[in-house]
Amino acid sequence: MTEIIEESIVSEGGLNFVEQEIKDDLAAGKNGGRLSTRFPPEPNGYLHIGHAKAFIMDFGVAEKFGGTCNLRFDDTNPQKEDTEYVNAIMRDIHWLGYDWGNRLYYASDYFQQLYDLAVRMIKEGKAYVDEQTSEQIASQKGTPTEPGTNSPFRDRPVEENLDLFARMNAGEFDEGSMVLRAKIDMANSNMHFRDPIMYRIIKTPHWRTGTTWKVYPMYDFAHGQSDYFEGVTHSICTLEFVPHRPLYEYFVKELADESYCPRQIEFNRLNLTYTVMSKRKLLQLVKENLVNGWDDPRMPTLCGLRRRGYTPSAIKDFVNRIGYTKYEALNHIELLEHAVREDLNKTATRVSAVVNPVKLIITNYPEDKEERFLMDNNPENLEEGKHEMPFTRELWIEREDFMENPPKKFFRMSPDKEVRLKSAYIVRCTGYKKNENGEIEEIYAEYDPETRSGLPGSDRKVKGTLHWVSVPYAKAVEVRDYDRLFAVENPSAEEGDFRDLLNPNSLITRNNVMIEPWAAENVKEEAHFQFTRLGYYTVDPDTTADHIVFNKTIGLKDTWAKEQKKSTK
Ligand code: ATP
Ligand code: MG
Repeated sequence: MTEIIEESIVSEGGLNFVEQEIKDDLAAGKNGGRLSTRFPPEPNGYLHIGHAKAFIMDFGVAEKFGGTCNLRFDDTNPQKEDTEYVNAIMRDIHWLGYDWGNRLYYASDYFQQLYDLAVRMIKEGKAYVDEQTSEQIASQKGTPTEPGTNSPFRDRPVEENLDLFARMNAGEFDEGSMVLRAKIDMANSNMHFRDPIMYRIIKTPHWRTGTTWKVYPMYDFAHGQSDYFEGVTHSICTLEFVPHRPLYEYFVKELADESYCPRQIEFNRLNLTYTVMSKRKLLQLVKENLVNGWDDPRMPTLCGLRRRGYTPSAIKDFVNRIGYTKYEALNHIELLEHAVREDLNKTATRVSAVVNPVKLIITNYPEDKEERFLMDNNPENLEEGKHEMPFTRELWIEREDFMENPPKKFFRMSPDKEVRLKSAYIVRCTGYKKNENGEIEEIYAEYDPETRSGLPGSDRKVKGTLHWVSVPYAKAVEVRDYDRLFAVENPSAEEGDFRDLLNPNSLITRNNVMIEPWAAENVKEEAHFQFTRLGYYTVDPDTTADHIVFNKTIGLKDTWAKEQKKSTK
């Protein structure tokens, strides 16, 4: 699992192996040439980018081959599920551009049919009520090389089983006191065949069916049958379900005939470096306030990535690049970030912002003078036009762009050196002033009017170009800078408590970031900006009329592209 693999298995026709198998089934006329898939989230948490990999396949393959894809909530455990999750899941699927039309289903729609099937199996001697504790049942399971032991309740009469199962559902027995088990084979080499549990007692009311049911089907008894009831032909899931497949087929055979039978196909989960993907762990981070909710921009959830400024097309592009394989792998988060940069480079609006401002005064620029410089909204797409940026005697520049005693290769601002102020003038630094703490408070410079950008002869070369924002026109905003949520590459592989692996510096809040006025006027939800020389930023929903908040999506430096170059040299 620690191996990092990036390439996918793609057939000659450019199809991945799942698509290829589906194409073959369609060509062979299986299920009357019909294609129906489903995405089956359990509404016990928010969707993360791993789920996106799953539903991009489910919806994507249906689109590709003229089939349909159902959304089915796998709501078989009322103890953990909630409508909050249902709504969030639907929103996130829509955000990525997929729609289930009128094919919205719930496993709870099938509770009666599943119950009836269980009763039928009891009558046929294929299921029995076991009154042992879960510990006792577990201790009889055996091991892959040793057979298990039959339960003392295995051969109880059908009538007794029917009576007990009905009374389990009527609420006569406590949770955990008995279960319904399939009577299959306690010596089978596949552990899932050793009399798997079909039903357990849960007394918590269900958010859809209320107190109608006191017994709830287990995943293995619910999933294949739900697929069957919906007419699903291809039940695509992740590799951990490979050992469940024979049981999936066993239960489905109780219902299916030659004319139609759903089929399970498995692909590898998405695992990302510096990330945990387990819903249980993500829930824990939220519940213990180790992050600021499910949509915290450091979370791998789709709502978190959205808030961070990641785009649907970047996520889809990333999933497409890593592809679908039959072996577990760990993918580099840098590849996802690379996809985000590539997408935002095409679409983000360029503006100027100074995150750590210090004042630059151009002493030979008249106090009452102002100019407007035209800036490209996106040099990658000139059709997006230009906007004006005011230039004044006093400007904000980055503190890091000035050094009193620079090393040799420092080409930004330092005493007596020239730099260009982006799209404006070349200036020469003439001095600076410090405050009582020894911090630089003001920097002084003189501009050369002959070097105005765009003027003939203004292309005199200097090594450094700095971004800037006009002091009287700048708007102060808040910027939240993010780093990886975890400090180690593969948190799931580490021993001990995963919470100890959190990166303590994953969020830095900066106030007093200065942005140009045009940017402030164009702030709206989910707007993407590139702050010149700094990175990509998006507007956070915490923004109000008088307090603008940006999230840093990602810096400009592409560590992925750099690594790729190195490795191909
Ligand atoms: P759990 O079952 O532990 O609650 P889960 O992440 O498997 O968590 P589900 O709601 O069952 O949650 O997932 C819905 C679908 O998403 C399943 O078909 C599952 O295979 C798929 N899926 C979940 N995690 C990933 C992942 N990391 N990569 C790809 N697919 C995933
Ligand atoms: Mg699951």
